[in-house]
Amino acid sequence: MTNTTYTNPSDHVQLRDLLFVACITETRVRERVKELGTMLTEDFKDKNPLFISILSGAFVFAADLIRAFDGTCEVGFVRLASYAGTHSTGSVQTVMGLEKEIKNRHVIVVEDIVDSGRTLHFFLDYLREQQPASVCTVAFLRKPEALVFPVRVDYVGFDIDDRFVVGYGLDYDGLGRNLPGLYQLVS
Ligand code: 5GP
Ligand code: MG
Repeated sequence: MTNTTYTNPSDHVQLRDLLFVACITETRVRERVKELGTMLTEDFKDKNPLFISILSGAFVFAADLIRAFDGTCEVGFVRLASYAGTHSTGSVQTVMGLEKEIKNRHVIVVEDIVDSGRTLHFFLDYLREQQPASVCTVAFLRKPEALVFPVRVDYVGFDIDDRFVVGYGLDYDGLGRNLPGLYQLVS
């Protein structure tokens, strides 16, 4: 993914003051999400899992992931925020809490990207207090070099470089969530 030179201007997207270049195609994203859905189906098919999508960024991934899951399931949402612009603020805020009962449920936490791991770490602590039957984590993206908090990600779509990305639900100042592939900041 790194060291690739893009010459086609359609591989670039300008969002406000920043320029981004394509790094994972829509086709590859679709394939990988199907694979993750198949893995989750094998592991949770008869468990009626509760997918909890961390908003806002994970909503696109979660929508595709639950449709790649072949079994009964339920979906809940929680809204956590830690980013402002292209940088982490260093604290996690719960903007909207969970309305689903999770005691004795098999919970699958769906995150868009694990960067420092702070968001997931914070949320997993909270979840464990609610006594679920089991908790696992699935992240569309992970930046291994940026990890600071010790969180286990059970299912990972793609490991990427430590660069700011947009697309497939991820935004820059509210823009870029509708891009069907992934784009990386050109520095
Ligand atoms: P963490 O708490 O792991 O440091 O960061 C997780 C959250 O920060 C993600 O759920 C996402 O909302 C945001 N984030 C981290 N890296 C990026 C990035 O490269 N692009 C965008 N758009 N958001 C990011
Ligand atoms: Mg997120």
